[in-house]
Amino acid sequence: MKNTDKKPKNWTIARNKQCALCGSDKVQTRHETKFFNYGTLEKQTELHAEVPVYKCTECNFMYTDHEGDRLCHDAICKFLQVFTPNEVRTLRKSAGLTIKEFSKTTGIGQASISRWENGTLIQNKAMDFYLRLLRVLNNLQAIRNRIDNTNKPVVNITDKIPNFEPVPIARLHYQSIDWLQSEQKTFAPQKIKTVGGHKIMTPKEVRQIRLNLNQTIREFSKITGIGAASLCRWEQGSHIQNRAMDNYLFLLSLPNNFKFLVNTYKETSLTNQKNERLSE
Ligand SMILES: [Zn+2]
Repeated sequence: MKNTDKKPKNWTIARNKQCALCGSDKVQTRHETKFFNYGTLEKQTELHAEVPVYKCTECNFMYTDHEGDRLCHDAICKFLQVFTPNEVRTLRKSAGLTIKEFSKTTGIGQASISRWENGTLIQNKAMDFYLRLLRVLNNLQAIRNRIDNTNKPVVNITDKIPNFEPVPIARLHYQSIDWLQSEQKTFAPQKIKTVGGHKIMTPKEVRQIRLNLNQTIREFSKITGIGAASLCRWEQGSHIQNRAMDNYLFLLSLPNNFKFLVNTYKETSLTNQKNERLSE
């Protein structure tokens, strides 16, 4: 039977648990709803999680532990609609990879992976979508194959825009996205860049992937979580995407992956709207 009343449940004996204060093993536990604020001062949201609370019957000390912290962190990840630490770990482990191997294949830094798995840092939207794509069957293998076929072009360039003289990079930093997007003034020389033996796509390839998907920079940015300014700069060649984002773009060039993201985006914006309505 479902327990629907709001009264706290009864205390039960916590096995193999010692009081965090006096060390006694006469500890009881129950689940309580913990409410906490998340966000900046300007925009705070109240979140909650069901956490185990412990009470020592010897010294009356009451406390929560790392399990409670973990459950609160999970509540934040669910609110942000990103993978929880456990989901990141499960993704890596189900691929049978150590953090080092997972990093080597995906291009994501080892430190970032362990921080996401430990819950000391939450991945941004673009990285989270990249992880979601890696959970889709065959995508991890596609990235492995890409490493083996490093000289094979990712897309055929059909975009007829010629190479223009590069604009000094210092000037590019101050231009608006509309300016960057409006005219292809600044394609840098299309040199093939490699990072640690891995080929990174040229600005034209990045641009071609987006054009093949019929997206403007703003639309593409919204769906993929990649900042519009970053996209512009990668396409203009004033900045070079790192290997993780390069692989992410590569996956988006494969059939169905972008569609998968569009559906994920639709789902998350629907629940966002619902949450906003509820909190009004
Ligand atoms: Zn105690």
